[in-house]
Amino acid sequence: KHLEIGWNFDNTYSLLPEFFYSKVEPNPVDSPKLVVLNQSVANLLGLDVHALEREEGIHILAGNSLPKGALSIAQAYAGHQFGYFTILGDGRAMLIGEQITPARERYDIQLKGSGRTKFSRGGDGRAALGPMLREYIISEAMHYLGIPTTRSLAVVATGETVRRERNLSGAILTRVASSHIRVGTIQFASKYGSREELDALVRYSLKRHYPSQAASANSSLTLLEEVCKVQAELIARWQLVGFIHGVMNTDNMTISGETIDYGPCAFMDTYDPKTVFSSIDTNGRYAYENQPVIGNWNLCRLAEAMLPLIDENQDKAIKLAQAAIEKYDELYHVKWLEGMRKKLGLTNIESEDESLVEELLSIMHKYKADYTNTFVSLTFNQIEGMALMDKPEFVEWHKKWQSRLGRQGESKESIRDLMKNNNPAIIPRNHRVEEALESAEKGDYNVIKKLLDVLSRPYDHNPDQKEYATLPPASSCSYRTFCGT
Ligand code: AMP
Ligand code: MG
Ligand code: MG
Repeated sequence: KHLEIGWNFDNTYSLLPEFFYSKVEPNPVDSPKLVVLNQSVANLLGLDVHALEREEGIHILAGNSLPKGALSIAQAYAGHQFGYFTILGDGRAMLIGEQITPARERYDIQLKGSGRTKFSRGGDGRAALGPMLREYIISEAMHYLGIPTTRSLAVVATGETVRRERNLSGAILTRVASSHIRVGTIQFASKYGSREELDALVRYSLKRHYPSQAASANSSLTLLEEVCKVQAELIARWQLVGFIHGVMNTDNMTISGETIDYGPCAFMDTYDPKTVFSSIDTNGRYAYENQPVIGNWNLCRLAEAMLPLIDENQDKAIKLAQAAIEKYDELYHVKWLEGMRKKLGLTNIESEDESLVEELLSIMHKYKADYTNTFVSLTFNQIEGMALMDKPEFVEWHKKWQSRLGRQGESKESIRDLMKNNNPAIIPRNHRVEEALESAEKGDYNVIKKLLDVLSRPYDHNPDQKEYATLPPASSCSYRTFCGT
């Protein structure tokens, strides 16, 4: 019967030593109702949307029954949270299996909010509807922006109440990831496991995410180098679209280079490098401008965890690790500047490009310009409508930029196309996300469906979607996000 849906599990994580996980089954829920189902993710996974929408499919998405071939586990991990090392693990999530897609790709299928596990500590193992929909919306937005991310197959309302500061509707999100191995997973193995266990995880991670490097003579160093590469690219992409993750703890940084854990994340409206949305990030540790540096800090923790494997001689191991992390810094900078050049329509390289970018950013900062819309206005050369239009610094900068564009000898059309493809018109604006969540909470799912549709075409620059690109009313300027619900 389950075969009709298209589940095709092959579970390799549970072949690792049992130290890495705990077998646990989802705790059934009262009366599950499908809130959103992601057709394109279903197609990617080789799952039949209509079968998933039927009762039998919904029961699986709710954790009330497991598909054939499932092997449900909670994964162990640790991590530095706001700089402090803690033992963690899936306290409210369960990996039910690794789906092999029709294209022979492997994805973790994880139910988030499916009940208590060995790692729940005081938590109830459950999740609320609002935050699960928020993860769904923002992860999908990130995907369509072209940024590596975990994805969301579905959100099911459980029909149960979860107790937080107030009573909320319960929900379960089906998260799809190329794996859920985190920097914190390696830290867990390093701190609490044997050398063999750490080595097994490192080799598993390398084989799963960087198969062409699986035969490397130094698997831990190679893994470190690869993670440095993908994280440099990822964080550069975040900076370029103004995405603020909000809780870059080492347990929320993947080995695959996908964005994970959409708790307190949000997109910046007004350009300010110090922007923080998370209510608990009182020191601004995870502010926009700090993200690249925190990436480096987290990679140092990853390196530290693998040092015993990198070289017998620890001094040598440290040198090798440092070199890998220096490459992270270099690559981050290269990718960021490459991306900024595209955002400004530059196709060749001039030595002054970086200062041209920095000048624009500081003008945007000074005059509190909207990050996304400033680049869109530049794309269409709609200077008249810009808040910066009459600012002398901007007028001068604009002249400089125009002559820079003139020197590269590209047609206006090809510059515009390049800029259109690198400056999204549509990002998940905080007030739009909130509006969709409020409607969903009341049982109206149309607002969220419309929003998801618009977010799937961020580079369309469709004038009909202008209402999704406008700024929030002034009162929502001090937007705050919360995690742990
Ligand atoms: P996060 O802040 O989302 O990275 O989560 C930190 C840790 O708290 C992870 O180990 C989660 O599994 C755990 N956790 C978060 N919410 C709950 C909950 N409602 N019940 C049990 N554990 C939770
Ligand atoms: Mg987390
Ligand atoms: Mg979280």
